[in-house]
Parts: sequence; structure tokens; C-alpha cells
Amino acid sequence: MPEASPIRDNLARVRALIDAAAAAGGRPKGSVALVAVSKTMPAAIIRAALASGHRLFGENRVQEAEDKWPELKADVPEAALHIIGPIQSNKARRAVQIAEAIQSVDRPKIARAIALAMDETGRRPDCFIQVNTGEEPQKAGILPLEADAFIRACREEYGLPVRGLMCIPPFDEDAAPHFAFLREIARRNGLADLSMGMSGDFEQAIRFGATFVRVGTAIFGSRPSQP
Ligand SMILES: *Cc1c(COP(=O)(O)O)cnc(C)c1O
Repeated sequence: MPEASPIRDNLARVRALIDAAAAAGGRPKGSVALVAVSKTMPAAIIRAALASGHRLFGENRVQEAEDKWPELKADVPEAALHIIGPIQSNKARRAVQIAEAIQSVDRPKIARAIALAMDETGRRPDCFIQVNTGEEPQKAGILPLEADAFIRACREEYGLPVRGLMCIPPFDEDAAPHFAFLREIARRNGLADLSMGMSGDFEQAIRFGATFVRVGTAIFGSRPSQP
């Protein structure tokens, strides 16, 4: 019998809420993927999530992903990792090597570096364009006014496998207009996937069409504050 685990319970609870939100929007079960955000969590904690059957994870730092994931993936080859944090162009190659998706493609320089790394490595992780919907100066993401041109460049000029869009709404605002805005940018660019919604607002994000939600705290508990 599997032993009791708060992480197993948390995953089950979050999944049930996801399924209920999807059903409420008339969407089929399985139409929303749960990215368990394991940043700052030690491998032992991640192993509890793997042991309960979860397979999709998110990390925001390439270095931390490299420290933890090669061994975890060796043990559980079906585990998939999404990079969800800003990437420096000198780490693009390492991101391409370790990730199944990069959700934080946010400027031409990094798009070019990722394209080059794909050519060199033969790996082609899915790409999401991060949009800074709140136009916050300190936040990563392409500005909304530049989004259409950047999405086109990523597809046509850089040849990236662009799968969808990602956003992190401002913390002190209602997220709904940001989710609606991201959905509209995806719609007019013919992009199927929307990565939006975190522990505090993933059900709301699903109502606005999220196909990936990125949930950390509600699964793993609170993190030590990051520098
Ligand atoms: C940390 C993080 C999350 C998860 O946030 P929680 O509030 O802990 O669920 C989601 N997305 C990104 C980009 C993050 O860095």
C-alpha cells in the first residue's frame, strides 16, 4: 500500500480542482496539464511527487534543473521538465538539452540562441512565448505591442516549435483581464496552448482557457524566499 504523503494528497486535490474547473467550462478531462513547479524543492521531495505518478514539472533556473533532473530522469524516463524562468542566452544550449519545453522565450536574443542550440543538439523542446501582459518593467516577457511580430519571427525566422503563450500577471491586480488578453493574442496568432495560472488563480485561468497551469506552493508547500 502506498504510504501517506502530503504531496500525493496535494496533487490529488489540485488535480480534482483542475478537472472540476475544466468540466465547468465544458472542457474535457485531460485538457489542462498540471506543471508541478518544483523550484527550490530538493530531489527527495520531487521523488515523492514522481512516486505518486506525477510526470510534468517546472523549474525556473537552468542551473538548478541541471543539479536535480538528470538523476531524476534517469530513474523516471517519462518525467518531463519545463523551464519556466528567464534564461540567459549563454544558458540556452543547456536549457535545450535538459528541457522538454521552454516556456520563457521572451526576446529575440534568446530565441536566436535557442534556435542555434536546437540546430547543434538536434533536440527541439516545445517553445512558449512569454508575454509581459502587465508591461511591468522588472518582469520578463515580450511587450504586448511587440508580441505578434515576435511570435512570427520565432516561427518563421528562427524556426522554433512555438506551441503557445505564457504569462505571469502582476501580483497586485485581478488576473482575469491578463488571462483574457493572453488568450486573445494566442487566438489571433493561431496558437493552441496557454500556460497561465499559479497556486492562487489556476481555476480562474482555466476558465479563461489555460491548457497548462503552473502550480508550486499548493503542491509542495511554501518555498524559502528566493534572492
Ligand atoms: C514559482 C512559479 C510558479 C508557481 O508559483 P506558485 O504560486 O508557488 O504556484 C509559476 N510560474 C512561474 C513562472 C514561477 O516562477
